[in-house]
Amino acid sequence: MSGTPPMAKRMADIVALCKRRGFLFQSSEIYGGLNGFWDYGPLGVELKRNIKDAWWRDMVLGHNELDAPAGAPSAYEMTGLDATIIMHPQIWKCSGHYDLFHDFMVDCRESKKRYRHDQVRGRWAEFEGERIFVATTVEAAEEDEDTRRRAMKHFKLRPKDAERLALSDTFTSLDRVDDMTRVLGPDAKSLGTLTPPREFNLMFKTFVGALSGEEGAAFLRPETAQGIFVNFKNVVDSTRVRVPFGIAQIGKSFRNEITPRNFTFRSREFEQMEIEFFCRPTTSAEWYRYWRDRRMRWYLELGLGGDRLRLREHDRDELSHYSTGTADIEYAFPFLPPGEFGELEGIAHRGDFDLRSHMEGKLDPATNPLRLEVDSDGKPRWRGSGKDLSYRDDLTNDRFVPHVIEPSAGADRAALAFLCEAYHEDEAPDEDGVMRKRAVLRFHPRLAPIKAAVFPLVKKDGMPEIAKEVYSTLKRRLSVFYDEKGAVGRRYRRQDEAGTPYCITVDGQTLVDRTVTLRDRDSLEQCRIRIDDCVSEIETRIGGA
Ligand code: ATP
Repeated sequence: MSGTPPMAKRMADIVALCKRRGFLFQSSEIYGGLNGFWDYGPLGVELKRNIKDAWWRDMVLGHNELDAPAGAPSAYEMTGLDATIIMHPQIWKCSGHYDLFHDFMVDCRESKKRYRHDQVRGRWAEFEGERIFVATTVEAAEEDEDTRRRAMKHFKLRPKDAERLALSDTFTSLDRVDDMTRVLGPDAKSLGTLTPPREFNLMFKTFVGALSGEEGAAFLRPETAQGIFVNFKNVVDSTRVRVPFGIAQIGKSFRNEITPRNFTFRSREFEQMEIEFFCRPTTSAEWYRYWRDRRMRWYLELGLGGDRLRLREHDRDELSHYSTGTADIEYAFPFLPPGEFGELEGIAHRGDFDLRSHMEGKLDPATNPLRLEVDSDGKPRWRGSGKDLSYRDDLTNDRFVPHVIEPSAGADRAALAFLCEAYHEDEAPDEDGVMRKRAVLRFHPRLAPIKAAVFPLVKKDGMPEIAKEVYSTLKRRLSVFYDEKGAVGRRYRRQDEAGTPYCITVDGQTLVDRTVTLRDRDSLEQCRIRIDDCVSEIETRIGGA
């Protein structure tokens, strides 16, 4: 039996497994939790570290600056950076985040809940001449049923009167509704409790040093990218990198999301893995296509796939004025309604917008690269650093402001997608050969938190001693786990839930010929290998993960 349970159930099971096995915990749980913040437990921290390590190895250390990889216009260089979370507040003014990084929110006066305006939609319901708009959130599961049920309740209709209710088939977004007094909010019982939309800046504000007024005000970075742009000159001056080259950074970012939800998908503190790739304006379109395809391949190589992963090019009207191309890599998370996808990563062609903004001042996003944004008195809205961030090619001697391609990924969304993709329920034999249900995480071996587990079949006859010896040898090279408690079938199932690809069992035969049983998590096949071959066998099977 190979079962993929229904979506809604599957998500609840995944969340339960994450808690039970120590992948993810609600932050500050013993104090009631803090909405939008998550802690990674002992297995979760290894999973996320493996994702970040795979990204760094494949994107930064693994590139070859002598040979152009498949699809790349030329060879290129890559380097890393680790910038601070709190930076000069002027950075956010020139980047546009101070003025523009906001969402519109609506509050519900009745339920006291807050929603992102663009995430509320609903259906029109009509009964005996009265028309109401039954609102729900985009990501709510089973919204059809939910809106019908709430409309029936509002009109006090019994199930047998269902056909007397006229309900529109399609959902309309809230911004198309003129009369807010006719709206039944997503969690409200009475009409007209939603406020008109208001702007809400998503940056967390803090104060640096002893100054408590606006003079000391600073922000937690909402993206890691700006730390790279403002260090562009430092990197060029301190290394031998030449355009085309990329600077990569992994680090925490913070956004005061109005409605954090869907497990870790939309958190208020999260980690990003970003590359700013600097190239000549003349080749930037080719580099954009290279990075878009390279990043898509990375997820496929690590096991995301099927029709749950897609690359979506933005339509022309979705693009910023300075961008000639943007694509999102999206995954059909099980908490989303069927057919909907959530963003894992955005790859954007950003032109010279960012470097020029930090040189000159905030550019008018609508007219870049033509002019600075100015106040009503004609003065620049926000001044730039005044530093020359152009690049001089020492071979050709020409000077230009590089164009930027930005592949911007979220480590937490990647971890969540890999968890959802890996989750399966099927059956495996226990020690008596009886088939039992199991939950298994079929992680790619590179991502698995534990690569192998070592068990003595029983806690006697010298088996634990041999198993500990195998464990210690493997431990020097790989992340391995030792377990001697309980029936061996149960120990296998615990490792299946942790996503451990291989289990090694020391048994009666080991005492005779120093061979052990090697069990494969996915095929459930068991074979015998020599103790002396354990390290090489596991390393070969996981492919140097
Ligand atoms: P969304 O539209 O989902 O809010 P975004 O387009 O604002 O995302 P970007 O600013 O492009 O996201 O950030 C790059 C990546 O950072 C995203 O693709 C995502 O993986 C991650 N990310 C952004 N916001 C969050 C968040 N609140 N929680 C977790 N990850 C996030």
